[in-house]
Amino acid sequence: MVIPESLLEALEKARSITVLTGAGVSAESGIKTFRDPDGLWSQFNPAELASVDGFMSNPELVWQWYQYRRQIINNAMPNAGHYAIAEMEKLFKNFVLVTQNVDRLHQRAGSSKVWELHGNIIDNHCFNCKRPYIGETNLPDKQLPKCPVCGGLIRPSVVWFGELLPFEALSAAEEAAYNCDVFLSVGTSAEVYPAANLPLIAKRSGAFVVEVNPNRTAISHYMDVCLRETSAVALPKLIEEYKKFISD
Ligand SMILES: [Zn+2]
Repeated sequence: MVIPESLLEALEKARSITVLTGAGVSAESGIKTFRDPDGLWSQFNPAELASVDGFMSNPELVWQWYQYRRQIINNAMPNAGHYAIAEMEKLFKNFVLVTQNVDRLHQRAGSSKVWELHGNIIDNHCFNCKRPYIGETNLPDKQLPKCPVCGGLIRPSVVWFGELLPFEALSAAEEAAYNCDVFLSVGTSAEVYPAANLPLIAKRSGAFVVEVNPNRTAISHYMDVCLRETSAVALPKLIEEYKKFISD
């Protein structure tokens, strides 16, 4: 994979850089896109496990599934792609990171500010009054955690199918897409809206737009540069080349 000079020039001139990440960034940490096809959960429809209706009709099942996913995420480690993005934050001024991932691996790799469009799987809050919940979640006899204030059921702080994205994160992401000079769309299939719109907002606003993905996506043809590699390979290489470029 060759890093085009046009990209290095754009990075050097950029006053602000925005990065959007998706599931592909965490794939190399062993976190599957949505659920593992290992049989245990394959009999369930995602809509049953990740929606308000699913939670209302079977909260025990939804809790079991999220505790299982949390275990996978807790045992996973950030990969070279996450670390490269954390380094970019230090390398570039006005750097904004937006993610569709809920696994918090960016933060564990050292990224200090991450806009989480789909919430995160680590935190919990009350389904009823929305207050954050920091109590125990592994209760005996399959009991479900309840809100100490209102008694409502506790849920993971992820965005479920059919729910609105967190307003603050989405506004910040859109603003960053409008205002950046370079936009990198990393490891995302660009099929889930409104996140898929962000690279297009950046393009229309005159940014240099880059896709980092081993595969073509629905927005590849809008891109100024496509790096056809995984983020764990492409981003460390990009940083290495950039450092050489600016020291020449
Ligand atoms: Zn409550």
